[in-house]
Amino acid sequence: MFESLSDRLSGVFRSFSGRGQLTEENVQAGLREVRLALLEADVNFKVVKDFVENVREKCLGQEVLKGVSPAQQVVKIVNDELVNLLGGETAGLDLQGREPAVIMLVGLQGSGKTTSAGKIANILRKQKMRPYLVPADVYRPAAIDQLTVLAKQLDMPCYPSTVDMNPVDIAKAALEEARREQATVLLLDTAGRLHVDEPLMQELEAIKAAVQPQEILFVADAMTGQDAVTVAESFNERLGITGVVLTKMDGDARGGAALSIRAVTGAPVKFVGMGEKLSEMEVFHPDRIAGRILGMGDVLTLVEKAQGAINAEEAEELARKMKKASFDLEDFRTQMRRIKKLGSLDSILKMIPGLGGLREKLSEASGVMPEKEMARTEAIISSMTMAERRNPDILNGSRRARIAKGAGVTVAQVNQLVRQFEQMRQMMKGMMGGKGAKMPSMPRM
Ligand code: GDP
Repeated sequence: MFESLSDRLSGVFRSFSGRGQLTEENVQAGLREVRLALLEADVNFKVVKDFVENVREKCLGQEVLKGVSPAQQVVKIVNDELVNLLGGETAGLDLQGREPAVIMLVGLQGSGKTTSAGKIANILRKQKMRPYLVPADVYRPAAIDQLTVLAKQLDMPCYPSTVDMNPVDIAKAALEEARREQATVLLLDTAGRLHVDEPLMQELEAIKAAVQPQEILFVADAMTGQDAVTVAESFNERLGITGVVLTKMDGDARGGAALSIRAVTGAPVKFVGMGEKLSEMEVFHPDRIAGRILGMGDVLTLVEKAQGAINAEEAEELARKMKKASFDLEDFRTQMRRIKKLGSLDSILKMIPGLGGLREKLSEASGVMPEKEMARTEAIISSMTMAERRNPDILNGSRRARIAKGAGVTVAQVNQLVRQFEQMRQMMKGMMGGKGAKMPSMPRM
């Protein structure tokens, strides 16, 4: 359902990539696009405004990380804000307290309450709970039958409500019955209307007072976009909803409801309906949804790893050494290991969007050291004594033969490494001589 939003956003991020530096100007331009993309996805305009403002502040205040591009950092910031917007942590049901716990489902007619009652009961049973279903919609023809049939399919107990009963009485009597049957959770399906109206609200308030539910879940049809958000607000004002179930997320809704409802009502989305079948309901995970919207492969993982792996002080020290051309094979190996800490070279490239397919070309064209060569280089350096690493000039014939044997390579390969390293050192000396020269993250990489 987030496809077009996802497409728009990846376009924005593509336009960032390639830029070395984030300036206020290009951040503004990029954020203008992010704003349009969100509005087009039917996200509440106030929510969009706050979102963009938060991202802007974070972009401009961010420390530049080594090892990732500023564009990748922006992706990470947008992702974190999206996760926030969607509620942060995964919000489970809070069923503490009396048993059976009571979950009351509320919402407009056709939003998917009855179906969701069955689906949630199904999920809870898998978590070793004993659900009890209660139809309390005495107005919609066949609503009671519908839940009774679902209960039968699920082989779960269901209260035998009838249309001549009062919904508050149904709720009270069902709670007694569920307790007798030692159910651990009761799911109460309430009446809906086409629009919010006063008698319905009063009825729901009366049911709430009678059974004091631990959870009042507002069921919203994701396809109705901002209308769902407005209706959620009215239900929340009267009843104090504790969570939202978004149904029909398998449809082609633009995503506005999913992205706005939490910010507007303060109640997190807890479940999403992904189809008509009883098994088609998922727990809502903000981080996974954000990931799906951004479709940014694992740039996020990459940035997180870079945050952990790269130590600014060490980098300074290295730059100082390079300037003095005292960079030796031991430093070389340390650098190489640091890069390996980020994951295999291959997996790093895979994580960068758009680079997946380019991996091979890239390693040929820009001289990225292939994985195998990197392992061999490390083996050779590791077979040297510290004195040899610190001062490759002492590497005479017999030392090279010993190292080759230790690393399981030929003497020619040792010679080649030493030669390459020498060239690299010369190159660095030249590079670092000029003012303002930048430290390469790793020689030859
Ligand atoms: P209620 O009036 O709120 O109880 O709504 P129902 O549970 O009767 O659902 C209304 C319609 O939406 C039914 O045809 C359901 O099969 C359908 N429906 C409910 N949830 C989903 C969902 O997640 N995906 C799809 N595609 N259809 C759904």
